[in-house]
Amino acid sequence: MKLPNKLTKLKAYDPITGSYSVRLDANESYFDLPTVMKAKLADQLEQIDFNRYPDPIATETIEAFASYYQVSPDCVTAGNGSDEIITLILNCFMEKGAKLVTVSPDFSMYGVYASLSEIEVITVPKKDNLQIDTSALIAACKNADAVVFSNPCNPTSLGLARTDVIRLIEAVPDCLVIVDEAYMDFWDESVLDLVNKYENLIVLRTCSKAIGLAAARMGFAVADTYKTNLLRAAKSPYNCDAISQKICATVLNEHSLLQHCRDEIIVQTQRLYTSLSELCARYPDILDTVYPTRTNFVFVKTSYAKEIFEQLLQAGISVRCFPNGLRICAGTRREHTLLLQELERILQPN
Ligand code: PMP
Repeated sequence: MKLPNKLTKLKAYDPITGSYSVRLDANESYFDLPTVMKAKLADQLEQIDFNRYPDPIATETIEAFASYYQVSPDCVTAGNGSDEIITLILNCFMEKGAKLVTVSPDFSMYGVYASLSEIEVITVPKKDNLQIDTSALIAACKNADAVVFSNPCNPTSLGLARTDVIRLIEAVPDCLVIVDEAYMDFWDESVLDLVNKYENLIVLRTCSKAIGLAAARMGFAVADTYKTNLLRAAKSPYNCDAISQKICATVLNEHSLLQHCRDEIIVQTQRLYTSLSELCARYPDILDTVYPTRTNFVFVKTSYAKEIFEQLLQAGISVRCFPNGLRICAGTRREHTLLLQELERILQPN
């Protein structure tokens, strides 16, 4: 059987799957749900009619999301993680052969989904300091159908100021601007409030990071009602299962719990940044730069990423390895202590 070219070129996403005692590789929240919340959810699951299909719109979840983020529920589409939402948007708003602008480095799945939809990807490199070059991005978007980027960015942890995002949106009215705000709970430069102002804007959010529900797989597209209705019509009818809908709706209604966890994660991330910066100052020949972070992880530029990554894995600590650096997610104090002790051991000259 002859496979289409797009499949033969496909490289599977390669998450870390082993069992490690310290997991700092997937940008998840380090807070599991409190036991009382788990008990509450168990009670609610009993009320689900398991023989019935779930609500296709995920109404209760969307309302809880809309109330937490102060948007209209009519502007929200729920998906099976923002991963599904990204594919949905590309399939819905872009034709085969259309041009999608991405920036590099950024979340690698944008390119994968685009190639599966036979969309041409134009990549704008970031500046040497890993910040987006807004002028270069605008220039590329002038000849493109859509642009997608994460803000703040996975993997660099840097953010593009709201004013720059608006400059981009306004400069390219014919280009769909997809702003993936998976980590925006940890920063405050969102453009979520502008989805009704700009026809060419879609914002993505997820329950997998600050909300702490990576296991439940729910993500959202926020856009004006016109585009929202198109997305709802184009998605598969029962894309979010009843269990995940219930869990996400319940947790999204716990505003003070969510804000507490988010604040704690921000504090822990800044602590991690400080500790890694100190390490960087002591071992400048090995650790190049530690980037200031707007997310729940820290990016460390180093030419020795692979060596350090492998030694950490052997010690039961998983982080994410990139060709030019390591992305380390914030964890508990205990996890940070173990990480830093191990890094110290690895970096010390023999
Ligand atoms: N966008 C970005 C920028 C991400 O980092 C991730 C997860 N790594 C996703 C989207 C996908 O998240 P979800 O769990 O909602 O599919």
